[in-house]
Amino acid sequence: MGIEVVRIPVLSDNYVWLVHEPVSGETMVVDPAVGEPVLAKADELGWKITQIWNTHWHPDHTGGNAEIKAATSCIITGPEAEFGRIPTLDIQVKGGDKVMLGEVSAQVMDVPAHTAGHIAFHFAEDHAAFVGDTLFAMGCGRLFEGTADQMYLNMRKLEALGDDTIVYCAHEYTLSNGSFALTIEPDNSALVERMAQVTAMRERGEPTVPTSIALERATNPFMRAASVGELAARRAAKDAA
Ligand code: ZN
Ligand code: FE
Repeated sequence: MGIEVVRIPVLSDNYVWLVHEPVSGETMVVDPAVGEPVLAKADELGWKITQIWNTHWHPDHTGGNAEIKAATSCIITGPEAEFGRIPTLDIQVKGGDKVMLGEVSAQVMDVPAHTAGHIAFHFAEDHAAFVGDTLFAMGCGRLFEGTADQMYLNMRKLEALGDDTIVYCAHEYTLSNGSFALTIEPDNSALVERMAQVTAMRERGEPTVPTSIALERATNPFMRAASVGELAARRAAKDAA
């Protein structure tokens, strides 16, 4: 492993991810919803924050940018297509670009749909993907600025990263997503088993994220939708639930 990842739960259900590259000593924050808890966690670990990477413009993913930059002089990287909506951005990137955290590189993926310019970051050698609000445990992001066609394509791009890819999502939505997933596939034994596991984890106050592509391929009704139409219908039903 070239990177170490630490989860910081903030607000009601957001996860901010602290990513450390030990060779260079660089530390990066994915989607800081807020500043103070992130600075405190980095301090506690003895890590100096040098970068922020944003997946999309929503305030619960960028709200801590300014405070963390003021405290650390870090460099902020985010989606070119949302430059106008993230005034703190220093570097604009798009799908296919390579971004560096010290000695380790990540590939930028375009995954529009939740927002028009949403991106994800894939550390291929570390089998890790930071997907923001595109893919959740047993769920996907709402289609605020995009279409079911785009989200269907996003699911194909993400599953292509491979079963052993660890998926770092930005929210703890697992129980709500899983309850919905069971209405779609009540006889999916992997799903039934996973819901029992995550229900027990939440009762113990434990996080259920990160997940993996293997788990999502087995249990996620949006990744498992066989067509754009099926994904669209499931998304509409979940939105109405
Ligand atoms: Zn969002
Ligand atoms: Fe969000």
